[in-house]
Amino acid sequence: MAGTKKSMETKGHHWTRSSVPEIPVLIFLILFGIRGLEIAQADDGAAVINEANVRGHVRFLADDLLEGRGPGSRGDELTQLYIASQFETLGLQPAAGEGKWLQPFPLVGVRTIAPPNVVFKQNDNAVSLKSVEDFMSTIGKPAETAQLQDAELVFVGYGIEAPEYSWDDYKDVDLTGKVLLMMNNDPASDPDLFEGRRRLYYGRWDYKYEIAARKGAAGAIIIHTTPSAGYPWQVIQTSWSGEEFELLGNEGKRLELKGWGSEQGLRDVVAMGGFNLDKLRAQAESKEFRPIPLGISLSIQLEGVVREQNTANVLGLLPGSDPDLRDEVVIYMAHHDHLGMGVERDLRGDNIYNGAVDNATGVAALLTMAKAYSQMDPPPKRSILFAAVGAEEQGLLGSEFFAENPTLKPGKMAAVINMDGTNIIGRTHDVNVIGYGKSNLDAIVEAVAKSQKRIVTPDHFPDRGYYYRSDQFSLAKIGVPGVYLHSGIEVVGKPAGWGKQQLDEWVEKIYHQPSDEYSQDWNLSGAIQDTRLLYEVGRRIANQADLPAWTQGDEFEAARKRAIDSATDAN
Ligand SMILES: [Zn+2]
Repeated sequence: MAGTKKSMETKGHHWTRSSVPEIPVLIFLILFGIRGLEIAQADDGAAVINEANVRGHVRFLADDLLEGRGPGSRGDELTQLYIASQFETLGLQPAAGEGKWLQPFPLVGVRTIAPPNVVFKQNDNAVSLKSVEDFMSTIGKPAETAQLQDAELVFVGYGIEAPEYSWDDYKDVDLTGKVLLMMNNDPASDPDLFEGRRRLYYGRWDYKYEIAARKGAAGAIIIHTTPSAGYPWQVIQTSWSGEEFELLGNEGKRLELKGWGSEQGLRDVVAMGGFNLDKLRAQAESKEFRPIPLGISLSIQLEGVVREQNTANVLGLLPGSDPDLRDEVVIYMAHHDHLGMGVERDLRGDNIYNGAVDNATGVAALLTMAKAYSQMDPPPKRSILFAAVGAEEQGLLGSEFFAENPTLKPGKMAAVINMDGTNIIGRTHDVNVIGYGKSNLDAIVEAVAKSQKRIVTPDHFPDRGYYYRSDQFSLAKIGVPGVYLHSGIEVVGKPAGWGKQQLDEWVEKIYHQPSDEYSQDWNLSGAIQDTRLLYEVGRRIANQADLPAWTQGDEFEAARKRAIDSATDAN
């Protein structure tokens, strides 16, 4: 568009912040009508979604000075301040209530001091597993001590209770005070059961510990295998050796011990009781499975360093332009936290978990998105909420707190677009949609992808349960459909397979390691492509007549209906 000029005034209409001088606008209207104008304005917004904007934000957020943005740390406070001040410069409104940008929430963290060895006994026999090398222990509650005394080990297979699949690994067995030995993931062999290879929430480690506590168990140990976890034992070692946070005031039954054991280590343990781990796991594939007491006991004493912390979500709002639709909101979300500083240093002597890709890039995309929307004139019909949430690495805690303490009614939340890690390997022919098939948002993503001459692909690794591993899951639980992309793998100009190889190497070598650092060599053209796609997807949701909906029969459809009903009743 020729001739841009800022802030022009005409009576009755506020053409503020429009960059289109009058004469060309008229020609445009004649040539392309309102649609053309919308595209022009969208293009204006999209133009600011560029590498310079994204790189600038990542460079700051991923710097060593931010010390890995651990919850409650100085780096965390600097991050919150940075995001709030950016929102302010863009003219957004503080959206945390009472004119505030920050929605603080209290966390309690516990750092577990585990014994060097964990000893399993059976009569006079014993198998000792080395801590960290073969066993990770975490206190299951925010307390200074926890202990098990001769607690019996019971194998419970997948440990799932799913009435909708008439599946119950517990039957009517009383497991009070026991230590449950559990398989990770959910049954994958039958496409009609647990959606086949796709990992459902039942297959997540958090579900395993939650249900073990609900069953009154004293402890739970998950058997680690790389296929069933979706990442190697090394990630268990790093992710579970730090401080474990949870939202303060979390009621309900608690475990004394949350444990992970290496496959070989636990194979030796059950062998002591005369069991074969593979045979046990084969039994667990059947609906007839019942818990198997192993005749092995565990005694352990754990010390904990408990710390209460405060962190916060940062919320900024762009009010919508349509009087009827502006009380409904499209949410852009990205977590601003990462793992902070580790106790141990890596081989390069580095202990700062910079979290450059995870998730400085997502926050950078969020801020750049906000800049694009702040230049849209008029603003979209529905309002846009930009939510930088905290403590995601600790179990999606910031988005969970937001979902439990929403600043607007869940039934007024049109959709959430979550950005957790952007593409750093270049433009792609494909757009990878996590949770593809769960809602009618897919159609919008497909239409916009098509306008970029790209194709939509479903989750490449449905068995890794990525849908439940980022913040859109917290909003799904209160009924809000979401869009969550992963980097495409068909990279423009690269041979087939190259993209997947890059991603696998990244998960293997960099994911949740101090080496997740910013590099000038990153190719961000793919990130810009994806961010512009999400910008246009959000704009269409914000301007369409109806609220997005879950696919019929989806696990979150009922929650949506409840949310919309209660929002309507309240009107
Ligand atoms: Zn992340």
